[in-house]
Amino acid sequence: MTTPGRDILREIFGYAQFRGPQQAIIEHAVAGGDALVLMPTGGGKSLCYQIPAIARQRAGHGVSIVISPLIALMHDQVGALHEAGVDAAFLNSTLSFDEASSVEKRLLRGDITLLYAAPERVTTPRFLAQLDSLQERGLLSLFAIDEAHCVSQWGHDFRPEYRALSVLHERYAGVPRLALTATADALTRADIVERLQLQEARQFVSSFDRPNIRYTIVEKKEATQQLLRFIQREHEGDAGIVYCQSRKKVEDIAQTLCTAGVNALPYHAGLDAKVRQDHQDRFLRSEGIVMVATIAFGMGIDKPDVRFVAHLDMPKNIEGYYQETGRAGRDGQAADAWMTYGLQDVVNQRRMIDESPAGEEFKRLMVAKLDALLGLAEATDCRRGRLLAYFGEQLENVDAAGDEDGANNAPVRYFCGNCDNCLAPPTVWDGTDAARKLLSTIYRVQQVSGISFGAGHIMDIVRGKATDKVAQFGHETLSTFGLGSAYSEQQLRGVLRQLIAISAVAVDAQAFNTLQLTEGSRAVLKGEVAVRLRESILASATRAPRGSKGASGRGSAKPAPLDLDHEAQERYSALKAWRAEVAREHNLPAYVIFHDATLAAIAQRNPLSLDDLQGISGMGEKKLQAYGDEVLRVSNCA
Ligand code: ADP
Ligand code: ZN
Repeated sequence: MTTPGRDILREIFGYAQFRGPQQAIIEHAVAGGDALVLMPTGGGKSLCYQIPAIARQRAGHGVSIVISPLIALMHDQVGALHEAGVDAAFLNSTLSFDEASSVEKRLLRGDITLLYAAPERVTTPRFLAQLDSLQERGLLSLFAIDEAHCVSQWGHDFRPEYRALSVLHERYAGVPRLALTATADALTRADIVERLQLQEARQFVSSFDRPNIRYTIVEKKEATQQLLRFIQREHEGDAGIVYCQSRKKVEDIAQTLCTAGVNALPYHAGLDAKVRQDHQDRFLRSEGIVMVATIAFGMGIDKPDVRFVAHLDMPKNIEGYYQETGRAGRDGQAADAWMTYGLQDVVNQRRMIDESPAGEEFKRLMVAKLDALLGLAEATDCRRGRLLAYFGEQLENVDAAGDEDGANNAPVRYFCGNCDNCLAPPTVWDGTDAARKLLSTIYRVQQVSGISFGAGHIMDIVRGKATDKVAQFGHETLSTFGLGSAYSEQQLRGVLRQLIAISAVAVDAQAFNTLQLTEGSRAVLKGEVAVRLRESILASATRAPRGSKGASGRGSAKPAPLDLDHEAQERYSALKAWRAEVAREHNLPAYVIFHDATLAAIAQRNPLSLDDLQGISGMGEKKLQAYGDEVLRVSNCA
């Protein structure tokens, strides 16, 4: 038996199967129910409102309104729907007066299936009056509130204008609402429900697992060189995003990458709006561009073939990390999430929290969230297991084979087979002794000198280095001086990082980042808490080859579309060149015309007739009509 949703999936979008809970969500929405949809980035949220909008328009319910904060992306989102033959439009400040009037006219006639608008527009008296008019005539079908976490200050993209959206429920009580977000934490979710009055809405929570993304976190040494090696070894010519904390660093890294021959562009809020839009367009429209950016970049970027997301600085929390890394591999092909992380990251993040003007309760929450991320970075077990557990998922697929130091009674671990720790389990050493020496030293210098000192000086004392500062304060007389001379600075740094991560040491941002003991220090000093650390390994040198272990269906470093024989490869190249031209003519990104995977499937099938093109994933009816003949011609001439 077919359902209207499935027919639309096949006919309009050219896909054979729903993913995860899409079908249940769509059926619920088509029937007029409210819903809160939590799905990871790349999970397929758009179809969850686009298909109900189409189905309900066909059933005579009129227009669906899509509320999105991303004016700069509306043009492409609507363009993608046009390509699929869906009547969509947007209203925003980039339209001329005449263009906007024409959209408003069509809106009032109820002719549009999906109308995209930003929240600040939706809540204007003018727009509400137009919605009233639609409502009176039974032509207001559905509200889809995208990026719904923007309504919550607990989320990481709070936008006050989202708050005003509570008007939708109050004014249009009978019109179904779908709120969608990729932010999964419980606090944000509860806040969305309350702010948008979705108490009665059904909640659909998907698995947050992104099995095609490989998570790797390396210790920061020379971050820029590490990044460059990572890109050159694993992602030559690929599109990727590199996140940095500051605008200045974004500029510097983009420059360095360009000098090294990587096709990189900078993006941050300090750049002129025109430049930002231009760089974003180039990232979306050209192939193989690496965007070096602050977190100002990325929300709503639905480019499917981003092959890696790299973090040169640690984000604030796991939600941010997961959302940013989730921008890799939306097409389901192999992709990397790679981060360098060091002591300075820990210190910086702690300082930013301390120095923020927020209230105590908020700060405590931020610290707890940061700690969870530090725990992830320091983990010696499966990263994916940690991430999913953080999002409250029950972990199945536990495989004891991943546990190689099973000598002690360590619990059986989750094993994903596609993160650095699963692929090459790190050697773990016991840093408890080093930790106690560091803590005693922090205590003693405070006792002797009456002031606190920073990490460098503390480590010098433990290692017995006769620096000027040691002489100046007479610290060579401390009983711990030189007690840890067997440890390398790097080892001590690792121990300190972990002590800060578990709150056994505090960093005082108000006093030159000096180190202080905390409530948690005592347990470590007494030996009640063991400090286990990963052996410092040279960053990317130890990476196992892709597909070496466990990961299903990931044979090579390159995504599957390129696994083509020689002739198919020629057809694929010809089709890509043709697609680039069409995309330019339509002023749209190439992937909006066809995904790489669709072109690869065509190249593989070597079609001789329009019938041969039927059923290829991503080939909907409108695209077959519009492009079928051209695709056959290009493919057969190659
Ligand atoms: P999200 O908004 O959740 O981040 P998108 O809606 O952009 O994700 O979907 C991610 C990608 O997955 C898109 O390229 C989309 O075309 C594709 N996709 C979504 N649902 C399906 C499906 N059922 N079958 C095949 N591809 C799908
Ligand atoms: Zn793993």
